[in-house]
Amino acid sequence: MIETIVIIGAGYTGTLSAALLSNLKRKNDQRIYRIVLLDERNSILDGASKVIDRLHLGGEYPLDQASALSCLQGALYFKQMLPDVYSKAEATNYILAEETEKEGTLTFERMIQNYTTIQQSYSAYFDIFSNLHGKERAIHLLFGHPNTLFSEITDLSYVKGFKKGLVTKEKGINPVILGAFLESYLHENSVEILTNHRVIDAKKTECGFDITTQTGNTTKVLKANQVINASWQNAFSVNQYISPHTNHDELNVFLRCSAVVDITDCPNVNTSYFGMLGKHGGSYSPMNDKIAFIYFPDTSGSYLGECVQNAGNPLFPSLWVDYIKNGIIDKEERGKFILSSLTKCYPFLEKAKILNLFVRPVLSSRKELEKRRYETVKQIDSDGKWISALSMKAVFAPTNALDIVRIIQQNSMNDNFISKNECLIVDTKCDIVLPKEFILSNTRFYHKAFKAYARQYALARQLPIEMVEDEK
Ligand SMILES: Cc1cc2nc3c(=O)[nH]c(=O)nc-3n(C[C@H](O)[C@H](O)[C@H](O)COP(=O)(O)OP(=O)(O)OC[C@H]3O[C@@H](n4cnc5c(N)ncnc54)[C@H](O)[C@@H]3O)c2cc1C
Repeated sequence: MIETIVIIGAGYTGTLSAALLSNLKRKNDQRIYRIVLLDERNSILDGASKVIDRLHLGGEYPLDQASALSCLQGALYFKQMLPDVYSKAEATNYILAEETEKEGTLTFERMIQNYTTIQQSYSAYFDIFSNLHGKERAIHLLFGHPNTLFSEITDLSYVKGFKKGLVTKEKGINPVILGAFLESYLHENSVEILTNHRVIDAKKTECGFDITTQTGNTTKVLKANQVINASWQNAFSVNQYISPHTNHDELNVFLRCSAVVDITDCPNVNTSYFGMLGKHGGSYSPMNDKIAFIYFPDTSGSYLGECVQNAGNPLFPSLWVDYIKNGIIDKEERGKFILSSLTKCYPFLEKAKILNLFVRPVLSSRKELEKRRYETVKQIDSDGKWISALSMKAVFAPTNALDIVRIIQQNSMNDNFISKNECLIVDTKCDIVLPKEFILSNTRFYHKAFKAYARQYALARQLPIEMVEDEK
């Protein structure tokens, strides 16, 4: 018998879980699971995951080493799973604002200390990987040789108001290439994708769950043996269908927006910048020499507000729901403000033009922006077959997806649906090298048809098609 796994929410947490599960096969090459991926939106990967632009290595968490190292681990999985989806930027510069240093929130020594710890861990992972696959492959597939993971910036002439900084091997992500690849991968691997399906209820049954979805005025009940709830900002409320009283967690929710800009007329700065810290920060992520994502953390800029979510208050403010769905009213003015503020620190943006602004939520188990605590995967019902997953950053989604696969297989084994030798388990506490079944890359990136597909993907999400390059 084949088990049905229903996944609620098609962001990176849901889609990566679907991709990994769809690769699990029996000895006779038959798939182990039927996978149904639900999303309330018209397109998959159109929630928070639509606007990510960086594969953090841990530099973003200079005050929180646990999150920094979790980040590194997630990035190593991400890079192995998806080796070909990165922006053209050669490096990511982490720069320390003069004001931040003056206030004493962060020192340059602390930044170096953080990156040195990251480097030590990376070095250990690098050795494990090299021993298995050779040094050259490790350099190419991971983040280069450990000695080159970071260095002090020698040229700060491109930026203003920053004193010092680090050049790091952190990668930029091109969300259009990544998303288009994943979407086509899921289609190819027979994952059933149901968009415009909003989950409005769920019940536990004798052999699993009944999930009720709504599309317009039509409701439908889907049967599932196991469920992954990856519905991000709605995760608390969706969990409550199954377990109304057990969720005592609290989450801080931040509403942010990312501005997409045309940089065709700007000087070619083939580097991402990440300004530290908080209100003195701001980031610049070029996808190629045409398009960049920018962010300015000010309440008149990219930072739109915050609230607390818990069992008593699991829903989003209705105004926020509207912002996320339809954008914000002062989009044009705000976009201009973000660009002009950022141009003061990054003068090379002077000729950039705002193309669009996307509003999405970020969740965190801590209030402090600098201490964004990492991933969580929880088994919610008494049998452990309703699994809830939150990836506080997209970089944590692969670690969560691997944990989800482990739990699902363990459940299937307990119920005698699969045998031990059919399990493909990665222990995220100690394994760092992924088995080939979890490496999702193939040669399609180099095909013209994929570029056309990726442009359609961008159009469906109002992202600029220029994010897809013609050469290659
Ligand atoms: C502006 C911005 C920039 C960011 N940049 C980065 C970055 O550079 N790097 C990084 O690592 N992280 C970044 N993040 C964080 C990252 O976007 C999130 O951590 C990540 O995308 C969460 O993925 P997810 O799959 O859990 O959620 P989502 O991508 O939001 O997916 C959840 C899905 O669930 C669906 N859904 C919700 N409720 C229901 C329901 N009831 N029924 C059916 N479907 C439902 C939604 O439509 C959505 O598609 C950024 C976030 C923001 C806001």
